[in-house]
Amino acid sequence: MPSRKIEDLTPGTQKKYIEFAAKMHEAGIPFMITCTYRSQEEQDALYKLGRTKPGKIITWTKHSRHTKRTAFDIAILQDGKPCWNIKADVNEDQIPDYEEAGKIGESAGLTWGGSWKSPADYPHFQNDDVAEKTIEYPTFDGNKYEIPPVTA
Ligand SMILES: [Zn+2]
Repeated sequence: MPSRKIEDLTPGTQKKYIEFAAKMHEAGIPFMITCTYRSQEEQDALYKLGRTKPGKIITWTKHSRHTKRTAFDIAILQDGKPCWNIKADVNEDQIPDYEEAGKIGESAGLTWGGSWKSPADYPHFQNDDVAEKTIEYPTFDGNKYEIPPVTA
């Protein structure tokens, strides 16, 4: 199962997430995390959907930043439920919440998938710091993987 835990992200990504979450709270946009870390096997299985396996295509790459622990996906919550309508405006400020979340993510130093042209990935945020990309994390084996705690 892919992870939804912040602790499974690199320390630098965790810090940016904490800033992102605080600003989302300030803006009054409820959200949940739908994915943080995903193993390469899980990414490969996703990639097969809509290609060699039946289903809708939901990813376009085998090289996801989720497997590097530097990306997370969110869902805006409407009435407590994930809402995938990119025009949703739960905090009623006339700005679509996914776009607002994108701006907030960028202000926290994250790259927002919604700013990509082909295809845009509104729920996706990633940490593009060079230092983070070069960190090699041990493979999670169920118990032994540990990440240093983050102090925000
Ligand atoms: Zn993603």
